[in-house]
Amino acid sequence: MSDRSGTILVHMVHFPVLTLGPGRRVGVWLRGCSIHCEGCLSEELWSFDPACARGVDDVAREVYGFFGRDVSPSSVTISGGEPFDQWEATRALLERFASSGIRDVLVYTGYDIADLLCRHGEIASLAAAVVDAPFKLGEDTEAVWKGSENQTLSVFKPEFENVYDEWARSAKGALQVAVSGNRVVSIGIPRQSDAAAIRALVAPES
Ligand code: SF4
Repeated sequence: MSDRSGTILVHMVHFPVLTLGPGRRVGVWLRGCSIHCEGCLSEELWSFDPACARGVDDVAREVYGFFGRDVSPSSVTISGGEPFDQWEATRALLERFASSGIRDVLVYTGYDIADLLCRHGEIASLAAAVVDAPFKLGEDTEAVWKGSENQTLSVFKPEFENVYDEWARSAKGALQVAVSGNRVVSIGIPRQSDAAAIRALVAPES
């Protein structure tokens, strides 16, 4: 599932994202996940659909385009799909962000952070923070930043520790509703007890 051609499978790029990380962010949802957690809210993103392939440079340019506007983002969140199932492409995108001065990138993954640091240790210098571990149905949580209690937040860049600490102490609140293409989507991570009702109303993007 790695990519050597400079392309990356992307489901959606959206700004503003207000519910997946501190501040006002650009959200990048990747396409394809091999982990298949029971109860995943993003099951429609599991397939590695080649029709979602885009140039890494093209995606980076779209993200840059949001910076410097009147209401500009502070940072980027990469969610899934599973970023580490197409790690070469994800790393290339993170390197583009780093070289253009975007320092606050939050990455969501279903893999264990200790394992990732062994296999892809460069993540600790490319991301400001990572939320890790598979979603566990039945382990509900009130924390705004995760979907199940087993998941953890690792902050790698000391300059962002305070802002992530403050965000991590927030309880779940309102989800964000946005229009993407011809779909209405919810952005954010709901309580497990609310997920079915939300799914019935809109397509969730956690
Ligand atoms: S919760 Fe995340 S890691 Fe788990 S199946 Fe869904 S997209 Fe994959």
